[in-house]
Amino acid sequence: MSGTVVVVGSINVDVSVTVEALPRPGETLMAGSVRRSGGGKGANQAVAAARAGGACTLMVGCVGDDGDGADMRRSLTASGVDVRAVTTSLDEPTGTALITVDAAAENTIVVAAGANGVVRLDDVAREALAGADVVLAQLEIPQTVVLEAARARREGALLLLNAAPWAPLLPELLAEVDVLVVNEHEARGLTGHDDVDEAVETLLADVPAVLVTLGAAGSRLQRRGEDAVTVTTPRVTAVDTTGAGDTFCGVLGAALAAGEPERVALQRASAAASIAVERRGAQDAVPTADETTRRHDDTYGGPTG
Ligand code: AMP
Repeated sequence: MSGTVVVVGSINVDVSVTVEALPRPGETLMAGSVRRSGGGKGANQAVAAARAGGACTLMVGCVGDDGDGADMRRSLTASGVDVRAVTTSLDEPTGTALITVDAAAENTIVVAAGANGVVRLDDVAREALAGADVVLAQLEIPQTVVLEAARARREGALLLLNAAPWAPLLPELLAEVDVLVVNEHEARGLTGHDDVDEAVETLLADVPAVLVTLGAAGSRLQRRGEDAVTVTTPRVTAVDTTGAGDTFCGVLGAALAAGEPERVALQRASAAASIAVERRGAQDAVPTADETTRRHDDTYGGPTG
């Protein structure tokens, strides 16, 4: 392993039930079995980065002093994520997402942030950030903590900020960002522009580079004053796009930390995300490094694309 990626973000337990139709206000429904799985954008991205291989992955986050917290630590570790900078809150429970999915795969999701709201940087986190090649963050934890992590990173370490779920960004945080990663919905939300090109132009006034993911249409990296790098994504039959963006971000972070050229890193991220959409779930759907390499080489014609 050559580089280090530090993921700063949320850790949730996803509690999912499947119903025929989503409940209306006041309605009580019976569901089949309850499924508990690892979730939270931070943890999903950390799992994707660790499974991508090539770089060491350390997670900065917070869980509750409860069984869910212990389970989430165990499952992150089993995926190869270093959890020494995951702290435990004695006051708040582990973050929980309550997910209801209907027969047409429409869903409703309610998230209780719990311990994610009180995440903090301990000495292990600060040491890891001071040695990181890539810092990857999202917006399911307070922006002030993301800002603190950004400022604690090594000079020259890349900050990839995945603005998901989108929210108005602190100017001090924008000033730290190297690459802002957004999907079309987030680009629109952050700028008010329906047109993606206009949204990117607007965002480039605040950050030096914007990477937009475009679902089945791939992704586009635009640096201020440069030609855009456009990467197609493998053509697949999507069954569940949950976590596609998280897989993309995690694999991208690991590939850049490992020193892959930018275009190859984008291709590996796309290859991995295309596999994730063929499978159900979030962390469960993240492919291994070998699977990503095979899909990458089949799609882009060899290791260097
Ligand atoms: P999104 O957040 O929907 O833009 O998706 C993130 C990334 O996942 C995209 O840039 C693609 O690489 C991949 N992806 C998402 N949806 C699909 C799809 N239907 N087919 C293939 N790849 C996809």
